[in-house]
Amino acid sequence: MKIGFIGLGNMGGPMAANLIKAGHEVTVFDLSAVAVQAARDAGAQVAACPKDAAKGARTVVTMLPNAAIVRSVLTADDGVFAGCDNGVTIIDSSTIDPHTSRVMAEAAEKRGLTFVDAPVSGGTGGAQAGTLTFMVGGSDEQFESVTPVLKCMGKNIVHCGGVGTGQVAKICNNLVLGITMAGTAEAMSLGESLGIDPQVLAGIMNTSTGRSWSSETYNPYPGIVETAPSTRGYTGGFGTDLMLKDLGLAADAARSAKQPAYMGAIAQQLYQTLSSRGSGNLDFSAVINLYRMG
Ligand code: NAD
Repeated sequence: MKIGFIGLGNMGGPMAANLIKAGHEVTVFDLSAVAVQAARDAGAQVAACPKDAAKGARTVVTMLPNAAIVRSVLTADDGVFAGCDNGVTIIDSSTIDPHTSRVMAEAAEKRGLTFVDAPVSGGTGGAQAGTLTFMVGGSDEQFESVTPVLKCMGKNIVHCGGVGTGQVAKICNNLVLGITMAGTAEAMSLGESLGIDPQVLAGIMNTSTGRSWSSETYNPYPGIVETAPSTRGYTGGFGTDLMLKDLGLAADAARSAKQPAYMGAIAQQLYQTLSSRGSGNLDFSAVINLYRMG
């Protein structure tokens, strides 16, 4: 199948490469010459603008930093919508707010196109290995039609409901992740300062009711989990600034739903403080440094 792909960053680059490996004809566009060259090396055709990347494609995938960029890449004069033939499906895998996804879906429908949101979890490792989880928002029929393409890039393809619900799932998951990580960091630091061996404390948590992915797989205290970023100086993993972006999306979504998000607001301030101290590029589990260094 002919596929257009826009946004070849840490996630999009390997995702596009996996589509090529699966036998699709992929035409790419990105503002970064380095990213474009890497895609060319992987076997992609290169377009001069999003409109050209969409020409002749049956599906267009976007993997971009934020909602404003998704809007402009889709709707600009040289954007994706302008290049699509009737009936083309646009899959947006960027993490953005659900409202923008719904607005883009309406705009696509008016032009005889289909738009589904399909944000991912699994990080850059999952993007490379083709084992991402896709959270898809769209009708049953749309979900069926995008699944074969998404299977080339991911392992778990989940239908969350109508358009926008993929983003809702992603935002709510990362809201609880940001909170449990901050809570685990707080408890591990308190335990350390009260004199318990952190390894013993983590063991108790992980066989008790304090257990979570943050305590068990990704413990923020260095040396507890060999494969966790905390054990390699908080490098790699999921950046603090990306967590901050997702908590900002959760806060905006909560405001628009007139729904309180107390814990999210506190977590957001913690990661904001970490970022303002120059650690925005460190893995988000470095939030423990606010307790251990303070
Ligand atoms: P990235 O910054 O590495 O890549 C973004 C790419 O978009 C860059 O190559 C950039 O040049 C390109 N770009 C920016 N503006 C553009 C434009 N107008 N036209 C064409 N290309 C443009 O980001 P990433 O880590 O690949 O993340 C992409 C999306 O996936 C984000 O929405 C992020 O929140 C989400 N996400 C990231 C991760 C992760 O672990 N990195 C995990 C899950 C979801």
